[in-house]
Amino acid sequence: MNPKPLDPGLYIVATPIGNLGDVTLRAIDVLRGASVIACEDTRVTGKLLKACDVDTRMQRYDDHASPAVRAKLVEAALAQPVALVSDAGTPLVSDPGYRLVREARAAGVSITTIPGACAAVAGLTLSGLPNDRFLFAGFLPVKDKARRDVLNDVGEIEATLIFYETGPRLERSLKAIGEIWPDREIAVARELTKLHEECRTGTSGELAQHYAAHPPKGEIVLLVGPPVEQSLKADPDELLKSALEGMSASKAAGTVAKATGLDRQTLYARAVELKQQ
Ligand code: SAM
Repeated sequence: MNPKPLDPGLYIVATPIGNLGDVTLRAIDVLRGASVIACEDTRVTGKLLKACDVDTRMQRYDDHASPAVRAKLVEAALAQPVALVSDAGTPLVSDPGYRLVREARAAGVSITTIPGACAAVAGLTLSGLPNDRFLFAGFLPVKDKARRDVLNDVGEIEATLIFYETGPRLERSLKAIGEIWPDREIAVARELTKLHEECRTGTSGELAQHYAAHPPKGEIVLLVGPPVEQSLKADPDELLKSALEGMSASKAAGTVAKATGLDRQTLYARAVELKQQ
């Protein structure tokens, strides 16, 4: 028996982030029943459709598409079922779709979501970091100052911070985090749902050291635990030791002084001692 035809509207469909087995039954039904699938890359989505035995027409779409292309999709969604997917995971989450959804909503299109995989949430659940409050902040900027500005902006929020990251940039991001928060708990969740899935936790210094020796491949979610309360903070020696893994005594003293409010000169003297031990 054929499933009931889909009503007209925009269907936001999450797709797997690596393991094809994570496509949902509802996602397959909607992709099969849609009149067109708006997707970032027809080759990428084509592979998923083939694996799921779906032969719906695809149309390339991202948020840089011309307003005319978007208007056509909105118009189509008023009369037919239109599916929106991204290359992987949940559309709109660091992926195209925002403009389309806004314009569809403004035009009175019926919009529904078919939830599924999302790397940010998968990484959070795997990390063991506090998950009662979390802030997803997308990709960190590439340039040093812009990255530091973003980190300072979100750093005091009492929540686990979630960033998307790439292998080549991970080490620099870890170092930048270590310069501001040498003591915060970090998790690197890599290749989620894939063969080489791993989740490694530690301080930024420990993780930077590990990934310097083992350059990370594949896709990464970088998570930073919430600020540690002053009374719960590790003792200054531990903070200095961690900071000294990636910086000079003077810089380590400055970093720990900033994080703890302790006297920089005293910390510097102790850092020099620790370095000599
Ligand atoms: N919309 C997607 C989602 O719902 O997760 C995210 C798309 S964004 C363009 C791609 C980034 O998501 C990657 O650079 C990586 O940071 C993260 N990501 C996607 N798949 C991942 C995976 N399997 N493991 C770890 N991170 C992943």
